[in-house]
Amino acid sequence: MKSPAKQLGVDPYLPQNGSFGYTVSRYELDLEYKVAINRLSGTATITAVTSVELGEFTLDLSNALSVSRVSVNGKRAARFSCRGGKLRIVLGSKLPTGAAMSVVIRYGGNPRPLRTLWGEVGFEELTDGALVAGQPNGAASWFPCNDHPSAKAAFRIQISTESAYRAIANGKLVSSRARASQTVWTYEQPEPTSTYLVTLQIGVYEQVRLARTPVPIRAALPARLKDNFDHDFARQPDMMELFIELFGPYPLADGYTVVVTDDALEIPLEAQGISIFGANHCTGTRASERLIAHELAHQWFGNSVTARRWRDIWLHEGFASYAEWLWSERSGGRSCDALARYHHDQLRQKPQDLLLADPGPQAMFDDRVYKRGALTLHALRGQLGDDKFFALLKDWTTRYRHGTAITEDFTGLAANYSDESLRPLWDAWLYSTEVP
Ligand SMILES: [Zn+2]
Repeated sequence: MKSPAKQLGVDPYLPQNGSFGYTVSRYELDLEYKVAINRLSGTATITAVTSVELGEFTLDLSNALSVSRVSVNGKRAARFSCRGGKLRIVLGSKLPTGAAMSVVIRYGGNPRPLRTLWGEVGFEELTDGALVAGQPNGAASWFPCNDHPSAKAAFRIQISTESAYRAIANGKLVSSRARASQTVWTYEQPEPTSTYLVTLQIGVYEQVRLARTPVPIRAALPARLKDNFDHDFARQPDMMELFIELFGPYPLADGYTVVVTDDALEIPLEAQGISIFGANHCTGTRASERLIAHELAHQWFGNSVTARRWRDIWLHEGFASYAEWLWSERSGGRSCDALARYHHDQLRQKPQDLLLADPGPQAMFDDRVYKRGALTLHALRGQLGDDKFFALLKDWTTRYRHGTAITEDFTGLAANYSDESLRPLWDAWLYSTEVP
């Protein structure tokens, strides 16, 4: 477990996160959450296969949570310890390469967000409820995991909480059972999902189902915001239609859910099959429509086709930002050309020290990654023409559906759609810091 290469971590942008030695195929979380005292407790059952001979291994888990019991394949672990955001498990006897592991972890505590380079991420208490904003490394704030976007798995999340609240997690709601004052919500997410896209949303929410949609669209929101919501989010079915037309089929079987929290949120955030907005994004003025399009587009770019390394984050943010422009143009707003000209001017006035293909962890969520990423796609579209450009996007979402990819996978695929070399375009936009 201690070769020099492995000590570098799975991803140099997040060297503390992720683990070697095994691959997880499924997480089953059976949890209880007490809203008033912010107490989370329960069991995580993790199904995995060893990729080396394994005598010990680690999972990411916040120091705010304590582990009371660990078993592997029905036997109690010889030892386990939690330190520095890692749960280290030592087995009684080594497992050979390719062995199945069922790891059962009993844990609990008062979850809190993790402090990171990008601010606080993960599990967060709201005024009356809780949310999880997992990107990029917040998953370990509420469950033990191999926290890296390239480690996709299926999820089953069961959460018991006071019946006054609605609990929302990823995937299909397979049951909700009220028992005395508690309700147990069970969600099943069969599509491979990165840990940072797994979420839990708890609040006094009403469920709304939008009419006239090619894919079921639901919403969960405080009753007081219903009128604002009806206006602000009314064009989501049209967005869904446009994105299906341009990007290919919606990637998930169970539709799309928007959660609007009763609290204000600094930024909205995507999760698998879910987007989370704050009350400040639901004001009855359609001021956040750009963001509504952006988060929906992440279901294709980021959630289904996921960057294998965080340095390739423009494959998420550049594409979702370009989707904003495509929606603007389609909905009678400013055209892609006009938006590209505007943001190109803006970008030229900012420091030109960002390499889109490798922005560095500090600048991973810098707005220049978003805008330069969108401009790169607009330049590519100009060179290929609309037919080939959108055929390429569909090829991309089909080929890497529910998988992971790197920048060179995209440039490699794009080469099939061009008679001329795209190398000068990539050199200028992806591999130079100067704004072309
Ligand atoms: Zn985004």
